[in-house]
Amino acid sequence: MVAHDGPGLSVVVPVFNEIGCLEPLLERVRAGLDAAGFDWELVLVDDGSDDGSGERLDELAGTEGRLRVLHFERNCGQSSALDAGFRHARGRLVAILDADLQTYPEDLPGLVEVLEREGVDAVVGIRAERHDTGWKRFSSRFANGVRNRLTRENIVDTGCPIKVFRAEAVRSIKMFTGMHRFLPTLLRMEGCSVIQVPVRHAPRLAGRSKYGTLDRAFSGLRDALAVRWMQDRAMRWKLR
Ligand code: UDP
Ligand code: MG
Repeated sequence: MVAHDGPGLSVVVPVFNEIGCLEPLLERVRAGLDAAGFDWELVLVDDGSDDGSGERLDELAGTEGRLRVLHFERNCGQSSALDAGFRHARGRLVAILDADLQTYPEDLPGLVEVLEREGVDAVVGIRAERHDTGWKRFSSRFANGVRNRLTRENIVDTGCPIKVFRAEAVRSIKMFTGMHRFLPTLLRMEGCSVIQVPVRHAPRLAGRSKYGTLDRAFSGLRDALAVRWMQDRAMRWKLR
C-alpha cells in the first residue's frame, strides 16, 4: 500500500452563484462525514461567481480548517471547476457533489463503503427518485439514451452529481469542457472499473439552475460525438 498523508476523502464541489447554498452545504458535509468518522476536506471551487459566493466562501473557510477554497478569475464552466478540484484534492479518495444539495452529502459514506467493498475505482449515483420538473426528467433521460447509444455505454444516470473515485483514477482522465457529463465513460477508457448505485435526490435548495435545455442538448450531442471519436481512435498497441 502506498503511504498517504492527506485526508481520506476530498469532497470537490463546483460553485457558480450559489450564495444561498453555501452554509447548508458546509454544515451537511461536516455533520454527515463527522458522524461517519471520516477524515475529510471540502474543496469548493468558485467558478467566477458574481453574487458574493466567493467572499462568503472565504469567510466560511475562516471558520472551518477543513474547507479549502479555490477561486477562478472568471466563469469557466463546471468541467473546469471539477478539474481544478481534482488536481488540488489531497484525499486518497475524491468525491463530487453539486452545491445546490440536490444530492445528499450523507450518502457519501455509503458510496465509499461500496467502493472499498467491491474494490472498484469509482462508484457513481443513479438518482432513484428525481425531484426535477417533468420536462427536465424527460430531457435528461433522452440525453442519457443518446449518450449511451453513441458511446456504447450502459450508464443509467451519467449526469448524477454524486460520485466517488480513487484519486489516481480521476486524475488519470484528461478533462475538456463538457466532459463532467462523461466521467464514468472516460474512466472506463482508462481501464478503471465503475459501478452504479441508487442515491437520494432533492429539489434545488436555493438559487437557479445554470443550464437551459437547448444549450445542454447541443453541447451534449457534440461532446458525445467527441467521446465516441476518442473511443474509436484510442490506441491499443501491445508489444509481443
Ligand atoms: N456550476 C459551475 N459553473 C457553471 C455552471 C454550474 O460551477 O458554469 C456548478 C453549479 O454551481 C452547481 C453544479 O455546477 O454546483 C451544477 O449546476 P446546476 O445545479 O445549475 O445544474 P442542474 O442541476 O440544473 O443540472
Ligand atoms: Mg442542480
